[in-house]
This record gives sequence, C-alpha cells and structure tokens, in this order.
Amino acid sequence: MAASVLLIGAITLPRLGRVPADTFTWSTLLERAASGQVGSATFTNDTGVVTGTLVDGKHFRTTGPAAMAPEERRTLGASTELRFRAASSNSAERWGPLVASLVLVLIALTLVMRRRPSDDRSAMTNSTARMSNAANPAGSSSSDMVSFNDVAGAASVKAELAEIVDVLRNPDRYRSIGARLPKGVLLVGPPGTGKTLLARAVAGEAGVAFLSISGSDFMEMFVGVGAARVRDLFAEARRSSPCIVFIDEIDSIGRKRGAGVGGGHDEREQTLNQLLAELDGFSSLSGIVVLGATNRPDVLDAALLRPGRFDRHVNVPLPDRDERRDILRVHTASLRVHNDVDLDALARTTPGMSGADLANLLNEAALAAVRRSSSEIGARDLEVARDRVLLGAERLGLVLSDEERRVTATHESGHGVLAVLLKSTGPLHKVTIVARGAALGLTVSLPFDRAMLRRSDVLDQICLAFGGRCAEQLTYGQVSTGAADDLSRATSLARRMVREWGMSEAIGPMAWRSDDHVFLGEQMARSRDESEATATLVDQEIRRILREQEERATAMLVQHRRALDTLARQLLEQETVSGERVRRIVNVPPSSSIRASIPTAEPASEPASVSLP
Ligand code: ADP
Ligand code: MG
Ligand code: ZN
Repeated sequence: MAASVLLIGAITLPRLGRVPADTFTWSTLLERAASGQVGSATFTNDTGVVTGTLVDGKHFRTTGPAAMAPEERRTLGASTELRFRAASSNSAERWGPLVASLVLVLIALTLVMRRRPSDDRSAMTNSTARMSNAANPAGSSSSDMVSFNDVAGAASVKAELAEIVDVLRNPDRYRSIGARLPKGVLLVGPPGTGKTLLARAVAGEAGVAFLSISGSDFMEMFVGVGAARVRDLFAEARRSSPCIVFIDEIDSIGRKRGAGVGGGHDEREQTLNQLLAELDGFSSLSGIVVLGATNRPDVLDAALLRPGRFDRHVNVPLPDRDERRDILRVHTASLRVHNDVDLDALARTTPGMSGADLANLLNEAALAAVRRSSSEIGARDLEVARDRVLLGAERLGLVLSDEERRVTATHESGHGVLAVLLKSTGPLHKVTIVARGAALGLTVSLPFDRAMLRRSDVLDQICLAFGGRCAEQLTYGQVSTGAADDLSRATSLARRMVREWGMSEAIGPMAWRSDDHVFLGEQMARSRDESEATATLVDQEIRRILREQEERATAMLVQHRRALDTLARQLLEQETVSGERVRRIVNVPPSSSIRASIPTAEPASEPASVSLP
C-alpha cells in the first residue's frame, strides 16, 4: 500500500509545478526556428535538454545533439534568444523530484508509525485487553461466565485459588486484620492444562471483572508501545476494581533481562520495567489481583518473582486418570454420545494428554461421527479420532512395493514379538503396517503407567526399539532406513542413562544437564562441563549399552524365530494384528494388565513412549 503510493509519487511528482510543454523533435525545433517561430531556447549542456518558448507563448521541450552543428547553431541563433546552462542549475528542477519523493516517504512512515500507538490507545479499552465483567456481563456473551464447575479436576489448584476468590469477595475481612495479600499469582503448567480457564473461573466465582491480555500483545515493533499498554492496562484495572488482570504467556515479556540471543531487547525490557512498576504501584488491598500464566517459569526474570509481585506459584499439572475422566465428562455434556462409549477406558488410555487435547479429541470424534452421517458419537469414532490425534493421519495414496511391505511387516513383527516378551513395556495393543504420519507401520502398546523408570525398564525400552532392526537383519541379512527413528530413540535413552540418570557403573553417580534448552532465553553457549577423558568414557558406555541391547534383542528374536515369521506373514495378509493374537503367536500368557478398546501411545512425554515405527 505505502509502496504503491511512493511509486506513483516518484513518477508523477517531477512533472508537477511545471508548465505543460509540447515535446518536439530536434528537427521540428530547427524547422520552427527557421520559420522564426521560436522565441527563446535554453540548452542544458550536460543532459542535452532544450526547453524554451515559442513566439506564441507556448512552451516546448526537446533533446538536442551533444554538439550542435555550426549551421544548426546559425539557424537557431537567427531569430531565437539562446541561453546555455552548465548543469541543471535550477535547483527546483534538479532536486524537486528527489525532495518530493522524500517527503512522500516521510509521510508514509509517519502514517505507519502513528497508526499503531494511536490504535493501541483505543484498543486498550476494547480489543487488546479483552474485558468481561463477570458480575455484569454487559456486552459479553454469557458463555464468558466461567465457574470452578467448568474446570474439571485440578482440585488442588482450585483450593489455592479459592483464597483469591475470597479476598476479592470479602476484602474487608482481610483489611480489618491488616493482612498483606497476594497481588500476583503465577499459574505454571504445560499448554492446554486450563490455566486461562482457571483464571476466568476465579473472576467468575468472585463475580469481578476480568481483564485479559496476552504477553505477546505487549511485544511491539516500536519501543515504548508495550510499556504504554501496560500503563493503560493497569489504569483500566484501577477503574474496574475489584477485578482480575490476567496476563497470559507472561514469559514473553517477563524473560530474564539481558539474556538470550543478541543480548538485551529494549522494547521488552521497557515493558517489563513498566510491569514491575505497576505491580508495585497498587496496594494488595485495592481489589486488583494479577494472574499470570506461563509454561516456562524458569526463564522469568527474578525481579518478577519477588515478594509483592508474582510471589505465589500455583502448579497446574497435566490431569491424571480420574481428572481426565472428569474433563471428558465436562466436555461430553454438550455432545450427543452413544452409550457404547466408555469414558473411563478412554481416560485410562490417554495419559499425557492435557484438557485441551481431550477437548480436541472429542471434537475430532464428533467430526468423525458426522462424516459417517451418524447423529451420535460412538466408540468407533473415538477410536478413529484417537488414532488420528496420537498416531497421525492415515497416509492414503502411499504405494509401497511388495518388497517394502515385506520389510515393514518383518520390522514391525520384530517390535511386536519383543513387546509381548519384555516385561517392562506396556501391554501390546496392536501391530499394523498401515502407514500413519511419517511411519510405515506401528507397534502400539498401551502406556506403561509409571511415573518413573527403573534401570531395567529403560534397558527394555532400548531392547524393544532394536526389535525392528534386528528382525530385518535376521530375515534379510541387512537393515533398512526404516529403523532410523528407533535408533535415535535407543541412542537418546542410552545417553540419558549415562549422562543424566547415573545408570552406568563406569561413569558412576554423576549427571550433566542435557543441552535441549538452548534458545529459550537461557545462556546460549553452555560450555561443555565434562572433561575430555570423561566424554570418551561416556561415548564408550553409550555404545556398550546399545550393543548389549542389540545383542539381547537379536537373541530373543532368534529364539522366537518361528513366531516372528508367522506374525510377519499375518501382517502382510491382514495389515493389522491385535496384541492378543501376537501373544498367542508368541505363546505368552495373556497380559494381566488393563486392556482397553482403543490403542494409545503416549505422546512425547516420558516415561513410557511406546509407539514404535
Ligand atoms: P492453557 O491456558 O493452560 O493453555 P486453556 O485454559 O486455554 O489452557 O485450555 C484450553 C481448553 O482446554 C479449555 O478451553 C477447555 O476447553 C479445555 N480444558 C483444559 N483444562 C480443562 C479442565 N481442567 N477442565 C475442563 N476443560 C479443560
Ligand atoms: Mg492459555
Ligand atoms: Zn521400528
């Protein structure tokens, strides 16, 4: 937009302010001069431009030759007044276009610069800080009204926040006793665990206004805008007190100052300083409570966490099994669900999922139900939705050669056989060679419901990861690229055993931080903190662990070679084989642990990630 304005300006402006002139050719000018029609002509030596007036007063313009022939000079000079100019000394003509373009650029820039702050100022009260008044939801829909009942589970969090609700409801009780009350409460937890929902619920329960803004709203291109927004936000809060000020993603402004890539960040620091000043600027009894939400408390500036600021931290963890069931109940309340759906089973098989994930899962299931033109969500829709959410969408149109299918079947059979043989892996749910996401096949186990892993558990996980690769090696005498993910999984487990979990005899009880968190506002370059000799030893230990588990996997598969081949054959025929069938093929007693109707694989989180490509 601004660019096109500039372009037009550059093209048209040089012409403005000049009398319109006829454009002649040089020979026309000579003809006119010969017939005495030219009054005056001005030659610009360096450009060859000739301008002038005819005797009838009209202006003309042409370009002459670099050097005028003597007879041309004579023709012209006969009746015309000739002037010569060394260069375009007419400054207006020379600089005019440039100045005009510059002015335009400046105008455009000021427009851009002015627009944002002025918008912000007005936006402060309407769009940027979204405000809803719980007591009197004028203008806001009643769905904005949230109470603790809408937040399933999270009992301990609700108990902690209940005090805040009480302060907002009965400030006088606290005032009279002279208590200093929490002003800022930081909700800390992974994304989707309901932090925003809880903040709304606090306002809803207390019946006070809710002002919410996201940390990223403060981040502006221009220095000072964020700080102005903070000021406006708290001015608004003082007007609407008692109220909750909710600052989501507070880590985006509250980072440690001077940390991270490129050192300081003026705008962010100014914004943060303003926030600190505002936090100090109201008394704990003024009826304003600031709630912040973050999933990265470790990057927050210490000043933000000092007493009198965000000195209370409330952990909002991922829901456990019962909480997941309650969340599913809350969200199915508004859905039409068939009675073959078992929310308990679903909750049991979705560890690691947040409230938002569960809500999303139910929504996927609703969509699946609509796709098959059903008026209710059935168990099969949930199965489809969960496979989709956890394992990725089925890869349609991926055509494997027979050879590739055979290798994939063998690979998955290797995992499958080991999955039922090893003790410390979750119960096997199914083995499939239906490609999903990036994987050509999957071995899906129910999560191994443990909060921690013992050394033997980790070794089993590594062994299991080697199953696919070793089966390929046994059957075809070579491995394929299909085992790359398994390999890096096994390696990272082994590395953590040695470097973080103190599970290597040779290294002993010593731990080094992993280097996963570069770029998150922490120190950029962390020096390597183990000695050269130790590093070599670490490598040796990792290699030894991996080798041992590879040998163990191979030995187990050799021992159950017939089962391996049978499973691979059945996979080729049927594409998916249930865990129960695998147990029968390998001839191990049925697993005593829980069995659910739907498969799962724990998403990225630890400890039991059991879906193996
Ligand atoms: P966060 O702010 O922690 O990222 P949100 O509060 O935005 O998470 O939660 C996103 C959605 O997930 C909510 O709108 C709600 O539908 C659902 N949700 C999350 N936790 C719960 C819970 N404990 N009970 C009910 N719904 C939840
Ligand atoms: Mg949120
Ligand atoms: Zn694999």
